[in-house]
Amino acid sequence: MKKGRFGIFGGQYVSELLMPVLIELEEAFDRICPTEDFQRRFRGLLRDYGGRPTPLYYAQNLSGLVGFRVYLKREDLLCGGSHKLNNSLGQALLASRMNKKRIITETAAGQHGVSAAMAGNIVGLETEIFMGVKDMERQESNVKRMRLLGGRVTPVTTGYGLLKDAVSDTLREWTTSSRTTHYLMGSAVGPHPFPMIVATFQSVIGEEIKAQVLEKDGGLPDAIVACGSGGSNAVGAFRPFIEEKDVRLYFIEGGGESLDADNCAAAFALGRPGVLHGAVMQILQDEHGQIKPSRTRASGLNYPGRGPEISHLCQTGRVKAGYAFDRDVFEAVRVMCRTEGLIPALETAHAIAYVLKNKEDFDRDDVVVINYSGRGDKDLDLIFRHSEDKQ
Ligand SMILES: *Cc1c(COP(=O)(O)O)cnc(C)c1O
Repeated sequence: MKKGRFGIFGGQYVSELLMPVLIELEEAFDRICPTEDFQRRFRGLLRDYGGRPTPLYYAQNLSGLVGFRVYLKREDLLCGGSHKLNNSLGQALLASRMNKKRIITETAAGQHGVSAAMAGNIVGLETEIFMGVKDMERQESNVKRMRLLGGRVTPVTTGYGLLKDAVSDTLREWTTSSRTTHYLMGSAVGPHPFPMIVATFQSVIGEEIKAQVLEKDGGLPDAIVACGSGGSNAVGAFRPFIEEKDVRLYFIEGGGESLDADNCAAAFALGRPGVLHGAVMQILQDEHGQIKPSRTRASGLNYPGRGPEISHLCQTGRVKAGYAFDRDVFEAVRVMCRTEGLIPALETAHAIAYVLKNKEDFDRDDVVVINYSGRGDKDLDLIFRHSEDKQ
C-alpha cells in the first residue's frame, strides 16, 4: 500500500506551500520517534504524568444488565479526562525535538485543546488553540481550563463556527508559520503523515487492552466498541487487533436526533468519499458535494470527515460502522451513572448506547471491550438541560 494511503482514502491534497512541511514532519517522525531516548521520555510521561496504563475495568453491573461480559478501557482516567493526552504528549515531544517554538491546534469539545495546552507546558512550548465560537459556548468549562493552563484560545467565526472551520483556520495559520510552529493535529485526520502519527501514539490503548484482557479473561475479546469522528481513539484501540479476524470491531458515530435530521453525524450511513483538509475521507456532504454541518450534542463527534484509516476499515467491512441517536445517548449516560457510578462523556456514551440498543449483536458468553474514551464533567450542563427538556 502506498504511504499514507488506505485503499482509496488518505493522501496529501494540500497547497504546494505545505508539501515541504509535511515531508519535514514525516522525516522527523521516522527519525526521532523510534529512538530509545524519545521512547523512554514518551513512555515515562505517559506513565508518571498521564497515569498509564489505564485500567481495564470489568463492569459487573452493566454486564448483568446486558447479559454478556463488558470491560471498560478507562481512558477517562488518563490525566485530562480523555484519551487525547496520548497523542498530545507524543506530538508535543516531537515538536520540541524538531526545535519548534510553538504549537497550534484546533479543538471541538475542548478535550484536545486542554491536552495540547498541558503537553505544550511540559515541553515548554507556547500553545494556541483555534476553536469555533459555537463550540466555545457549549464547552465553556474547557475554554476556562485551556486559558488557565496558559493556552491562547482564538475564536473561529468563519463558516459555521465549528470544528471543521477551526481545522481550516489552523491549517491556514500553519502555512504561514510552519518554520517555527508545529500543528498538533487532534485526531487521525488531515494529510499524511498526520493520520499515521496520531494512530501510532494512540495505539498504546489497544496494546494495553490486548495484554490486560488476556490477563483478566484468558484470551482475546470477542468485540471492541469505540465511538468517534476522526477515529483516533477507535484506531488506537483497534490497531493491534486488525489482523485478529475473530475480534469484531465496532465504530459508533453520532446519529443526532434521527438519520434525516440536520444534526446527524453518521458519515458512514449518509456520507461518501471526498476530499477534506488534505485527505480523501468518508465525508458528510450534500448532493452537490458541500460539506454538511452536523450538530450532534457531542461536540467531539461533530467533525464531518472520518480519518483515512477508519474510513478504509469500515469500507472493507473489517470494522462495522454504527450510530447512536441522542435520546439513546442520554439514556446511556443515565444507565452508566446508575449501574457503575460513572459519568461518561457524551461521545463515550455513544459506544455504550450502541451496546445497550444492539444486544443481539453479542452472544451470552461474549467478552466485549468498550473503549471508555472520556469522562462527562464537561457535559454536565448539556446532560441537565436534556433531562429538564424531557420534563
Ligand atoms: C475527542 C473525543 C472523541 C472523538 O475523537 P476521535 O478522534 O474520533 O477519538 C471521543 N471521545 C472523547 C471523550 C473525546 O474527547
